[in-house]
Amino acid sequence: MPSPIIPIRTLDKNGEEITTVGFTRFGFDSEVHLDVLRSLYLRPHYILTVGADDSEAEAVTKQEAQHAKFTAGLAAYQSKSIFHPASQSISYTTLSRFPPVRLLAPSARKRVLVTGGAGFVGSHLVDRLMLLGHEVTVIDNFFTGSKTTVSHWVGHPNFELVRHDVVEPFMIECDQIYHLACPASPPHYQFNAVKTIKTSFMGTLNMLGLAKRTKARFLISSTSEVYGDPEVHPQPEDYWGHVNPIGPRACYDEGKRVAETLTYGFHRQDGVDVRVARIFNTYGPRMNPFDGRVVSNFIVQALKGEDMTVYGDGKQTRSFQYIHDLIDGLIALMNSDETRPVNLGNSDEFTIGEFAELVREIVEKVQEEDGVKLPRRVQIIYKPMPTDDPQKRRPDTTRAKQSLQWQPRWTVRMGLEEMVRYYKAKMAEGSI
Ligand code: NAD
Ligand code: UDP
Repeated sequence: MPSPIIPIRTLDKNGEEITTVGFTRFGFDSEVHLDVLRSLYLRPHYILTVGADDSEAEAVTKQEAQHAKFTAGLAAYQSKSIFHPASQSISYTTLSRFPPVRLLAPSARKRVLVTGGAGFVGSHLVDRLMLLGHEVTVIDNFFTGSKTTVSHWVGHPNFELVRHDVVEPFMIECDQIYHLACPASPPHYQFNAVKTIKTSFMGTLNMLGLAKRTKARFLISSTSEVYGDPEVHPQPEDYWGHVNPIGPRACYDEGKRVAETLTYGFHRQDGVDVRVARIFNTYGPRMNPFDGRVVSNFIVQALKGEDMTVYGDGKQTRSFQYIHDLIDGLIALMNSDETRPVNLGNSDEFTIGEFAELVREIVEKVQEEDGVKLPRRVQIIYKPMPTDDPQKRRPDTTRAKQSLQWQPRWTVRMGLEEMVRYYKAKMAEGSI
């Protein structure tokens, strides 16, 4: 696999440079070069648009020169889009070549099903599994996900994308199932509460049935929301939670709780080989910019020069994990023999008010690096607190450390910088 140089230096929590993600653990090698992975999502944030005097061919040439500068030899592996402001349209080109994937012996190649694989977390998992040389099938109903998150793999012989709703049964032969399908942002999961709980229950039932039939290993993406508004801080896995069963968040919180119950039911009754990841707030590129979660809201607001909206007094806390750490944790968990629930999250805790200030500072830094002068500093304003919003949240990740030898490497600052650049690119191409 080539290891090209992209001029972004990323330092981990100990100040060491991060050049790869993943590791070999439990007999499974998940390591890929960060630049290769990055070339799949971090399009240059200097995307050209077709100007009045440019022909499309000229614009493409200029754009490719910019791509080459930023992606150092990987531009051939990126699909391209050109924004035409005059007609408010966008033209897509297909890939000329797929990114190189590892050549695995058939005995090492896994057939992996990823439900919700066109979503934020799913698409990053798909990138990693594809680069590692596995066969990946995504099923997704595109409620909150989008085909564009995995379009760079469509047509690849190791990849299949199927429009399917997990509340209906699905038949396939596979070795591992990552069951992620479920909206994750509060506005999205509350949009149709009945559908959310149906997805959690029936979707999980169908996928566990599939795992039972095929003897595939099954991993569910559960959530820190199973702890509700916690009375224990930080939250270890043996805390049973404090959830309002009839509040507006219940469709998601109780949905995930019952999905965990089902998972352990199949494990005890039918011997299904299960893994349960309790994911804490995670952010990164490809997060739907309009899904209402705090990180995407703050970055998009700050980039657009709009007021940043803090709900309540901003004293509630969250701990934010960068996507690549989560994917490392999910893959390690899947391939380990840990069947108990495992928290995956970053323990760097912020009040939401502090976090708004950090995001503002990072957006200003990136804009300054790009020579963008802002007319005025964006303001932080306060809005009413949503019902049942948890007051504090921080994972106790002792179990993940002991069982998986996993701990987060990315600082919140490094992750945020990358995400700001990603959203800048999206804004430049007109899709935000
Ligand atoms: P997302 O909304 O970006 O992705 C969810 C995906 O599932 C989307 O592609 C959506 O279209 C698909 N989907 C939803 N309902 C479906 C259905 N009935 N049938 C088929 N596909 C369906 O969210 P995400 O952040 O990528 O979350 C992925 C998983 O991780 C979810 O299960 C979520 O509960 C869990 N999780 C995420 C976080 C986080 O901070 N991102 C935290 C805790 C748990
Ligand atoms: N939040 C906020 N402003 C926003 C969006 C969210 O202050 O524009 C707050 C929200 O009230 C919560 C925290 O940020 O306290 C995290 O919200 P998010 O929806 O991202 O996820 P949650 O952890 O609540 O599921």
